[in-house]
Amino acid sequence: MLGPPGAGKGTQAELFARRHHIPRVSTGDILREAVERDTPLGRAARATMAAGALVSDDVMIGIVRERLAQPDAQAGFVLDGFPRTTGQAAALDVLLARRGPLVVVDIVVPEDVLVERLRARRICSRCGANAGPDERALAACARCGGHLVQRSDDSEAVVRERLKTYARATRPLVEFYRDRPTFRSVDGDQPPEAVAAAIEAAVTSVAAGCRA
Ligand code: AMP
Repeated sequence: MLGPPGAGKGTQAELFARRHHIPRVSTGDILREAVERDTPLGRAARATMAAGALVSDDVMIGIVRERLAQPDAQAGFVLDGFPRTTGQAAALDVLLARRGPLVVVDIVVPEDVLVERLRARRICSRCGANAGPDERALAACARCGGHLVQRSDDSEAVVRERLKTYARATRPLVEFYRDRPTFRSVDGDQPPEAVAAAIEAAVTSVAAGCRA
């Protein structure tokens, strides 16, 4: 699932993964957990993430290779936040060479909407879930009752850096994938259920094309 920070990749990846009983693989979540647990990976990634920059391709490709080899990912998976560079995308093609088609869905959202969404975003400090508007009003997580907090890299200065990083390193991925028959673009500036329906339709149409 492609798209800039704040496009709704995490929310949509979670919805799709649940509906299809496949794991959501979020490289951001894997890194945040490593930072939280203060592992060697977390210690190496902490400053890069805090600056809104990208962790090196070698590290990220290693993480994803290992994750996709797990038994629960053999029937399929949703990637959220990977690939983020054309180097990662090329490595992913190699990783998936014998594993069926890679469907690429690009979620498109205007920049002013992204900035506002990231400013308002709150996550649960206990389970990490993204809070919807109702939960934000109550200041508590609907899943576990945990406190809602702003993600440390959602501060205005870091958001600006992340959007710049996206434009420089990740947007070229759309060109990398655009001409493939498995690429689809969806309008992410609509309610989450409508985006989910558009993604479902996009993936169904790719699957139909692959069977034909
Ligand atoms: P996310 O939760 O996807 O927005 O990721 C949070 C941060 O983790 C990013 O701003 C990067 O610093 C880092 N990160 C996550 N995924 C990747 C990736 N595929 N390549 C490089 N850095 C990543």
